[in-house]
Amino acid sequence: MAVPPAKNLQQASSPNEEIEQFDPSAPPPFKVADIRAAIPDHCWVKNPWRSLSYVLRDILVISSLVTFAVFFKNITWVWPVYWVAQGTMFWAIFVLGHDCGHGSFSDNINLNSMVGHILHSSILVPYHGWRISHRTHHQNHGHVENDESWVPLTEKTYKTLNTVIKILRFKIPFPLFLYPLYLWTRHPRKSRSHFHPYSDMFSPNERPYIVISALCWALMVANLIYLSTIVGPTMLLAFHTM
Ligand SMILES: [Zn+2]
Repeated sequence: MAVPPAKNLQQASSPNEEIEQFDPSAPPPFKVADIRAAIPDHCWVKNPWRSLSYVLRDILVISSLVTFAVFFKNITWVWPVYWVAQGTMFWAIFVLGHDCGHGSFSDNINLNSMVGHILHSSILVPYHGWRISHRTHHQNHGHVENDESWVPLTEKTYKTLNTVIKILRFKIPFPLFLYPLYLWTRHPRKSRSHFHPYSDMFSPNERPYIVISALCWALMVANLIYLSTIVGPTMLLAFHTM
């Protein structure tokens, strides 16, 4: 697809001039339909077996990493390596659950929902709660008021934050630890949690879904508590939650 030159970028003689002339409020020079038309047909074909094979592959890698850590648990350097590798794999699990939520995992809603619940509950994410808030995010990318997961601050507000808050919110690695907090409380400017069926994120007909996912999440927490009575809380923390 030939994309016409951006109307919001007038002819500029230097990059600086280009930035100055860029009008972010102008509509882009293409429509969503143009982007869809540019994507090759085979990319739209969903194959549930292929999707499930990715789940199986990730479970095999996760199991291998657990086996590795069990075998070498007395070697100190093994643990940071395990946390980085397993954290990456949990991220892979999160992404597969994300695809279930988008419906790109398969055309079967029940299969998407079942696999999504298993994957997201295993890493303590409420499947439907996050799926719905994530949909709102995609519908309002970068919108100062309506975006869900990324709510930009104005420079004025940023300058009023104290140094500790600035470091915790904006400096790697601290924001990486804020995700569970986001699921519980969301952004300070938004109301109610991903677990609350009456949160303003959800429409009345979506409330039962929120309850189902919160129950699956609670079942996983109960599982982890039970496991901690067998392997001990420190080991559980080291293997799963870190
Ligand atoms: Zn997405």
